Amino acid sequence: MRLVLKADRLIDGTGAVPVENAAVVVESGRITEVTTQDRIQTGERDDADTVTVPGGTLMPGFIEVHTHIHCSAQADAYRHITTESNETFLMRGVQAVRAALSSGVTTMRDLGSRNPVIFPLKQAVEDGIVPGPRMLVAGTPITTTGGHCNMFGTEADTSDEVVAAVRGQFKSGADWIKVMSTGGGFTPGTNVRAPQYPVETLKAAVQDAERLNLRVAAHCHASAGVRNCVDAGVHNLIHCSWLAEDPDELYDYDTDYADMIAEAGIYVDPTLALGRLNQLRGRVRPLGAPERDPARRFEILRDMWDRGVKFVTGMDAGMTNANFDDFAYIPQVMVEEMHIAPMEAIVCSTQTSADCLGVLDETGTLEVGKAADVLIVDGNPVEDITALHNVNSIVKQGAVVKREGELLI
Ligand SMILES: [Zn+2]
Repeated sequence: MRLVLKADRLIDGTGAVPVENAAVVVESGRITEVTTQDRIQTGERDDADTVTVPGGTLMPGFIEVHTHIHCSAQADAYRHITTESNETFLMRGVQAVRAALSSGVTTMRDLGSRNPVIFPLKQAVEDGIVPGPRMLVAGTPITTTGGHCNMFGTEADTSDEVVAAVRGQFKSGADWIKVMSTGGGFTPGTNVRAPQYPVETLKAAVQDAERLNLRVAAHCHASAGVRNCVDAGVHNLIHCSWLAEDPDELYDYDTDYADMIAEAGIYVDPTLALGRLNQLRGRVRPLGAPERDPARRFEILRDMWDRGVKFVTGMDAGMTNANFDDFAYIPQVMVEEMHIAPMEAIVCSTQTSADCLGVLDETGTLEVGKAADVLIVDGNPVEDITALHNVNSIVKQGAVVKREGELLI
């Protein structure tokens, strides 16, 4: 049966001017028409199922590039991850992917969850056993012995060990490789201001991943770690916090490297909405976590943007206060704090992030032939980016997940 979706306007995800009085026609899970309501060719038949949202906006499903499906997002997230069983993690994961899909995330990359949990969960979503977004997964992140997120399960120190770990993740079915190139705030005692790996080791990981047709996303807070990742040819920088080695300095932003990131087309996931969620929900800075200066941080991100760096939309969902249905805060913070245009933030959330993940042929924009991953939000997000919080209807690969406010999963 054909599905016809109608709303006051359509944003296709490419940054093109919105289409007024728009319609999208879906058949067998694919988009067959992107048009205006008066020009529908094939949809207006008696058997067409039609969803009409007056005042609404059609747009591509959100692409979330950074989750940890088995982390609890609660104040006790670290205690949970270090004490709970894989069975409990799996139940958390089922809830997480359902929450993400319910908020309009139709494609999601998990950037670090235990192998015995994430691979069966991905398969269960593909098999329709549990509802969730299309998933790309890294499995366990690769970290040093005792390093950031070592409790997830893959520790590797030397270049040979790291290459072996890349192959292990490939063998388990990973779509991406995640490397922890510096310490992280989530893991007490690891040093966020220092690299965990030298360039040579990261380079070995990147080369072996590329041989296997995989790409590498690297967690990096310290500036020295950011530089190592760029020099090693990492494909996707996570956080990219530019933290100085000296805590009194806070940041050590390197504009030469920012230009190199832009030039090389390396995608950056700055996880920039986390601070807002902590503000909203209240979180005391954990002992040992680095001081931050949010105003300076956003100034740096805006400078990177102006230099042409490609930003993608990751929440780091599962970390304290970052829930799996919080996606809309990412484009909202981009607009409110980086001061980019709503349309630019929407393109980051859809086309650019799909391109980063290597799935742009399949999703990320509303174009004929692509999978029908379509949202209708109430209102006009080009005028008010917070409209993205009000997802009225959700279609994932042609299946209606939410219809005129009613969740069907
Ligand atoms: Zn993370």
